[in-house]
Amino acid sequence: MDQSDVSGDLANILLTEEQLGSKLDELAAKIDADYAGKDLLLVGVLKGAVMVMADLARRLHHPVQMDWMAVSSYGSGTKSSGVVRILKDLDADLTGRNVLIVEDIIDSGLTLSWLVANLRSRGPESVEIATMLRKPDAAKVEVDVRYVGFDIPNEFVVGFGLDYAEKYRNLPFVGTLAPHVYS
Ligand code: 5GP
Ligand code: MG
Ligand code: MG
Repeated sequence: MDQSDVSGDLANILLTEEQLGSKLDELAAKIDADYAGKDLLLVGVLKGAVMVMADLARRLHHPVQMDWMAVSSYGSGTKSSGVVRILKDLDADLTGRNVLIVEDIIDSGLTLSWLVANLRSRGPESVEIATMLRKPDAAKVEVDVRYVGFDIPNEFVVGFGLDYAEKYRNLPFVGTLAPHVYS
């Protein structure tokens, strides 16, 4: 297999690099305005949110701090169960902080609703969510997402941080995989 070219693995490009970039411009402008004069801690959820975090943070004029958390939701393959385990916790103390969770995608919303409750229990001033992508199923769970990039169809997507078996995270766009990749 040719490791250098994955274009044959993709069925469809859903969001181009340009579309992602202009959406991030919009989100960054809103965040700058909303947090003007306030302290802000961005919390990225590893590993998927790495690209969103890097590209969003560089568009902010607001001075922010960045911290990272790694969680794993127990569950089979592509569905999360809502039972979450912390693999890497934050370094920062959240007492009195304004926290903005930065996510790649919200699917069922189970992981994120657990995370919000967990971070709220640490005494922050506020906890909000920014996500690049959101799927329709997310609407079934009570998660109040302040900043959403794109609502997308209920399909498995890769790229811009999102993986399939740890591959495709470095694609600068978001796409769907060709069926032959799964088999
Ligand atoms: P949730 O708890 O919202 O169902 O799941 C969130 C996590 O599932 C995301 O952070 C992501 O890691 C994974 N996930 C959900 N949908 C997709 C998808 O379409 N593609 C990929 N690559 N991962 C997804
Ligand atoms: Mg994620
Ligand atoms: Mg994954």
